[in-house]
Amino acid sequence: MPESYRGTKFETVFMNRASFKVDKAKDLVKWAHELAAKGFCPPQGEGAGTSGNLSARYKNGCLITRTGADLGKIVEDEFVNVEDVNMVDVRVAVTGKYEPSSESMVHMAIYRSRRDANAVFHGHSPDILAHARALGVPETKSEVEYGTRKEVEEVLSALKQTHFVVVKGHGFYCLGKTLDECGKRAVEMLEKARALK
Ligand SMILES: [Zn+2]
Repeated sequence: MPESYRGTKFETVFMNRASFKVDKAKDLVKWAHELAAKGFCPPQGEGAGTSGNLSARYKNGCLITRTGADLGKIVEDEFVNVEDVNMVDVRVAVTGKYEPSSESMVHMAIYRSRRDANAVFHGHSPDILAHARALGVPETKSEVEYGTRKEVEEVLSALKQTHFVVVKGHGFYCLGKTLDECGKRAVEMLEKARALK
């Protein structure tokens, strides 16, 4: 029986609980550091998490930041390979050393419904949240608990064919064909939001 752990959002089943290293993780580390340096990950209040999470499509799943990671200091083996997600049983199968981001289900749902997306970045920038309308980005209708199936539904329905969505009262998801496209898009949005102040 593989090791399993029930987190607050889903059950994690470790297919192999070992350090996981692939070249793609190097690019993820680079972008995580870059995004943290831009100020995307300010400390948050209780329950909001301390930083964002970043993922890239990998095989049938994705590579994603571990839960509780500090994006500014993250290293390669803090990325976890999410191999599969069962939305009904709320269970996530992974290979890696750590628990995957508590928002793994949302990332996986995006990869499944958007074949054009190969990278997803989620952050909690207050500048972007405050200016969703002025920036012309879609926003979820209601505030939902993060990491849940309800959040998955709201995000997918607000996203439609765009590449950027704000989750009311929480954060944003940014999509890209590549990690570079995704990262640059998020930085551009942050700069536009700050210019609106
Ligand atoms: Zn979040």
